[in-house]
Amino acid sequence: MVTYFPFDWIQSPNFGKRPATAEVDTIVIHSTVIPTLEATVAAFTRTSSQVSSHYVIGKDGHIVQCVSSFARAWHAGVSEDPTGRKNVNDFSVGIELVNLNDGKDPYPTAQVTALRYLILSLKRRFEFGQITSHANIARPLGRKTDPLGFPWPQLADLGIPLKP
Ligand SMILES: [Zn+2]
Repeated sequence: MVTYFPFDWIQSPNFGKRPATAEVDTIVIHSTVIPTLEATVAAFTRTSSQVSSHYVIGKDGHIVQCVSSFARAWHAGVSEDPTGRKNVNDFSVGIELVNLNDGKDPYPTAQVTALRYLILSLKRRFEFGQITSHANIARPLGRKTDPLGFPWPQLADLGIPLKP
């Protein structure tokens, strides 16, 4: 039996084409710092913000897609993955979790469950070699800390190597 989560598509203008040669094989997990789903989507749909991600997940598990996963969202910034590839936006799917990123704000079960569901559905389309954090790929190292306090073991059984 399949459980579907509440899902909306609210398109962001902040995206581009992936390079023709790019193989999407990486998931980057973020936390928003912005306290609500609505305010995050508002930021991602404002041209002047120049940021976006493919998906945002609210604390209640509500998923909003802002950019097609076939396109290049603008979530990672200056970045390099654990294998030394730069421009992580080229080959990754960015997923933002609504969270204050203070290390104390919790990631509720409903939110993590929706994230797991989303990753499993993306796995039907892409062959992922890693799930990593914005903190791990942002350059210079230390530029980003998100998603601080995220319960990584809860993604350990999805069949994708974790590189938090
Ligand atoms: Zn981030």
